[in-house]
Amino acid sequence: MMSRSFGVEDSKWMVEVGANWVQGTQTEAGPANPIWELAKKHNVSLHSSHYFGSVSTYDDSGPFDFQDTFQQSIENFDKLTAVAGARVPNRLVDMTARSGYALSGSRPRSRYEMAAEYYQFDWEFGATPEETSWLASSWAHNNTFLEFSRENLLSVDQRGFKTLIQAEAEGFLTEQQVRLNATVAKVYTSKKGVVVTLADGAEITANYALCTFSLGVLQHDDVKFVPPLPAWKQEAIHSMSMGTYTKIFLQFPENFWFDTEMALYADHERGRYPVWQTLDHPAFFPGCGILFVTVTGDFSRRIESMSDAAVRAEILSVLGDMFPNATIPDPLDFYFQRWFSDPLFRGSYSNWPANFLSEHQGNLRANVDERLWFAGEATSKKWFGYLHGAYTEGEDIGLTLAECIKGGGCFGLEHVERVRNALPYDVE
Ligand SMILES: Cc1cc2nc3c(=O)[nH]c(=O)nc-3n(C[C@H](O)[C@H](O)[C@H](O)COP(=O)(O)OP(=O)(O)OC[C@H]3O[C@@H](n4cnc5c(N)ncnc54)[C@H](O)[C@@H]3O)c2cc1C
Repeated sequence: MMSRSFGVEDSKWMVEVGANWVQGTQTEAGPANPIWELAKKHNVSLHSSHYFGSVSTYDDSGPFDFQDTFQQSIENFDKLTAVAGARVPNRLVDMTARSGYALSGSRPRSRYEMAAEYYQFDWEFGATPEETSWLASSWAHNNTFLEFSRENLLSVDQRGFKTLIQAEAEGFLTEQQVRLNATVAKVYTSKKGVVVTLADGAEITANYALCTFSLGVLQHDDVKFVPPLPAWKQEAIHSMSMGTYTKIFLQFPENFWFDTEMALYADHERGRYPVWQTLDHPAFFPGCGILFVTVTGDFSRRIESMSDAAVRAEILSVLGDMFPNATIPDPLDFYFQRWFSDPLFRGSYSNWPANFLSEHQGNLRANVDERLWFAGEATSKKWFGYLHGAYTEGEDIGLTLAECIKGGGCFGLEHVERVRNALPYDVE
């Protein structure tokens, strides 16, 4: 979660460069998304987002109606997840979501079909259907949007969406328990405990450690583990992948764009500046002049290597194509977060590829010896990628570790030394 004050001096707004939605709330007396519970508890201002009912469509000649194709892509995604659901009880091996789409009859060819598919898939998973497990993406989607609800609530809270974490922490954490702005450089583990060395050389000694760095940080060796993490752990870390999801914010002196909440732009290149959202909308911050566009995966990594000025110029050129009759003013403000290059993140959230097997998942979650434990969104079997996955993993692993400590020690969670079992992802 990362909130940022964005805009010129007399028109500053708190925008979310990281997580922005409570994804799935609750259906009747069914299970509730714990993030929704926290948001309610701390009075975070949320507004329902119309993902599917408030979308304008464009191509490089301006407004272009491909709503039928867009509606078809919703059906294609539903079919993808339904067919995956039907396969799991038969325990067939996993495949990529691209294979799943093809087997369930969807083979996008035109740029409109590709843009519409992107909106359903890449815009959610931060990765392409080729890079993603068919079964896991379907289960992950269903676990959130069928088990909780189909609702997506956008935080419009000017204290920042992160308020729900900070306000909750105020209830039990004291300043002596938290060390802010401290970067961990090394984690030394022995039979007796853990010694953590910070970048400034300070050392923290503990009986146990719970490590919640992102999967990307673990993959990039930004923190040195001594002794090195065992082979089974390293294999698990490198079999899961980290998606990147980049929101590029622009503030203009006036609004010249669409009245809907979202817009979809079909470029000749799949994933080139496809999904646009306005915050200058009666439901959000009317009059703010803020528009943002989201890119993901390889395209995110591409723009992270470019200068701000070059990215800005590309975006203004796309806007020129989308709105040929408007005079596009110079943006007053411009920002995007470079998640992949940031050594504290190395991407946005994890994504389950077809080569990541159930036993890898268990190994990613398992502790190393008794002393070093792991949690975070990537270790969540049901809700990887989401805030509620990060939250529930912190809670589950934290409680398991507390029981272990109370009991005077334990072996912890099971792992397998060698992954041999290719049975597909399943959720009890
Ligand atoms: C752009 C974007 C949009 C998203 N949108 C949504 C959304 O709308 N809804 C939703 O449910 N989820 C969304 N997510 C996903 C959600 O934000 C994550 O799943 C969740 O925040 C992960 O929490 P975490 O605690 O596992 O990891 P993180 O939030 O990555 O926390 C890990 C912490 O470890 C710290 N750290 C890393 N390395 C070190 C080090 N060496 N020393 C000290 N500290 C270190 C980091 O600074 C960070 O604070 C989004 C994420 C991004 C990036």
